Amino acid sequence: MTDQLRAKFENLELNAGLGKISAFISMSLSLLCLFGALCFLFPSVLTTPELRPLYAKQYNLFYYGLITGIIISAGFGAFSAIVRQNRYGFYGLCFALVAAVLGCGVIEAPVLPSVPFYAGIDYFVLTLFILAFVFIPLEGFFAKNPEQKILRVGWVTDMKYFMVSHVGIQLFSFLTVMPIQYWITHLPDNPIVPYVQAQPIWLQFIELLIVVDFTVYWLHRAMHEVNFLWRFHAIHHSTEYMDWLASSRLHVIEVLMTRFIATLPIFLLGFHTSAVFAYLVFISFHAIFIHSNVRFRFPYLRWIIATPEFHHWHHSSEKPAIDKNYAAFIPLYDVIFKTVYMQSHLASVYGTVGYKIPNSFVKQFTWPFKKYVKRFLKPWRDQ
Ligand SMILES: [Zn+2]
Repeated sequence: MTDQLRAKFENLELNAGLGKISAFISMSLSLLCLFGALCFLFPSVLTTPELRPLYAKQYNLFYYGLITGIIISAGFGAFSAIVRQNRYGFYGLCFALVAAVLGCGVIEAPVLPSVPFYAGIDYFVLTLFILAFVFIPLEGFFAKNPEQKILRVGWVTDMKYFMVSHVGIQLFSFLTVMPIQYWITHLPDNPIVPYVQAQPIWLQFIELLIVVDFTVYWLHRAMHEVNFLWRFHAIHHSTEYMDWLASSRLHVIEVLMTRFIATLPIFLLGFHTSAVFAYLVFISFHAIFIHSNVRFRFPYLRWIIATPEFHHWHHSSEKPAIDKNYAAFIPLYDVIFKTVYMQSHLASVYGTVGYKIPNSFVKQFTWPFKKYVKRFLKPWRDQ
């Protein structure tokens, strides 16, 4: 099923005049609307509890946003299907109609029963909508590699990563933040915490960038230099096309490890929730930006803040660039620890060298374990 999906929709040119662009807009927007309508219908199991107060407060904004999305996707679908005779436009139109039917049944300002488990469908829909809205035009106008297609090789796999990490938000935080929170309550009070919290939020924000990036630099370096860890991180490096969606390709074990290690200093030093929230939003957006297919070079800033140019070199498969530029945000760490690599030209070829990493999401999940499973089973096989 997914092999067929990849064969059909990956490496697909959205050339104008065939109704493909309108079908693409219609299908992607109508699917988001469909998920959005389901969130309105089953909010207690499909939405993130932290975001629910915002929905209750801005109910009309989200509701009319959904209706507008349905109308736009139906319009593009109808154009593509009727004027251009494109069957995917017809599918988009159908999805929009289903979303409209579901959307009719929305519950106004529901009183939500609390359930122990939920799926972050709302988180997935909102982030995907915002990111696609910002990055698709940005990469279209300022592409580093203008030949690269929006629906390039690997996008279906990367979309699955994006979906899993967003829909499974509860599971990820349960496995990372919760153990730290539990552990922290059993530690004696850290005498530094009151001093950290007494500082203005903007200063705490800058300190977060410096402190967390230092931790992440060493974790990232360990992932490259320790073979066992590299097998998980290699999945992220397996992408041969850099764009905003490529940033999602992260093995579940890597996501858990990074979040755990990055969360530790945040909790240990006791930063204020507002500073942490601002930091998380900023750094998540920045992480996507540095993967994007854009040609901006930021002449002076590139030595202070990690830019797409800096991080693209990290993904480069050219020999001198391998195992360089580990910092997620502050390139100075790479300068200090002698792992920096910047050239007068931009990186152009990406991917892992010497490893054949499979294309599918499931096979990529099992790939890092394969070597160890084989080794474990060898004595039985040899008998
Ligand atoms: Zn890396």
